[in-house]
Amino acid sequence: MNKWNLIIDVAGCENCNNCVLAAKDELVGNDFPGYSAPHATQGRGVIHIERTVRGAAHMVDAAYVPKMCNHCDDAPCVKAGADGAVKKRDDGIVIIDPIKAQGRRDLVDACPYGAIVWNEPLQLPQSWFFDAHLLDTGAAAPRCVGVCPTQAMEAVKLSDDAMAQRVKAEGLRTLAPEIGTKPRVYYKNLHRSDHCFIAGSVTATVDGRVECLDGAEVALLRAGAKVAGAVTDAFGDFKFDALPRHSGSYLVRISHPDHGVTTRSASIEASSVVLDDLPLSATSA
Ligand code: SF4
Ligand code: SF4
Repeated sequence: MNKWNLIIDVAGCENCNNCVLAAKDELVGNDFPGYSAPHATQGRGVIHIERTVRGAAHMVDAAYVPKMCNHCDDAPCVKAGADGAVKKRDDGIVIIDPIKAQGRRDLVDACPYGAIVWNEPLQLPQSWFFDAHLLDTGAAAPRCVGVCPTQAMEAVKLSDDAMAQRVKAEGLRTLAPEIGTKPRVYYKNLHRSDHCFIAGSVTATVDGRVECLDGAEVALLRAGAKVAGAVTDAFGDFKFDALPRHSGSYLVRISHPDHGVTTRSASIEASSVVLDDLPLSATSA
């Protein structure tokens, strides 16, 4: 049977919050019997955006990661609500029953992702239920997908085998897979949030003037072996991305046929590294 999955491209998210507002617009104050009681007007919604800033000086980037219920296949909330308070549908969607879950604050703590919010006025745990009430009446996708101006979100209903092929082909990842809950929300380019980069700017002296050096070859080496290569752009900039946190020592080797060679060491611990200006000259070692 085909099941729902959500794919989010972190590189495409511009933090416009349309998806956050669409979920609020759909759910706050609206009753969908069997799916959801009206969500609260106050407090965090069931979709929220988390920001990560990397780098320093002129080489800074920000990544925005929309987060919501992951519709896990091995969900702790489903186990905690096995009396019918939480159910996993055949199409993969996890729904907190708006009547049977009444008063079940323990369900908020059961989710290791913090994806369940507590509706204080109704004394009810609530989550993003994939807009199942809309899908069940013919909608092609949840509202967050339709309102995203960059098409950073995609909802797909596929067999688990077909989804596994997309995961492999597109390098999709889930949040905290080590927890073992088997989420159905996948991310592209998640490295922009949880990995580091080494970047720098290369200059050269031309006719007595210091200029950004376009077209220098940059190699990233680890234990003497090249692991990545780049060419500086018109600003002399290069960037090696998706390096694991705490991956340790690297060597950056920069070369240009007219301006020689230089090297610089860098160490990746908890954060990205921006190398200071990297001047090349014909006499560099
Ligand atoms: S609507 Fe799209 S671009 Fe806007 S915050 Fe959500 S995922 Fe990001
Ligand atoms: S993300 Fe949390 S609330 Fe959603 S299915 Fe997984 S454990 Fe349950």
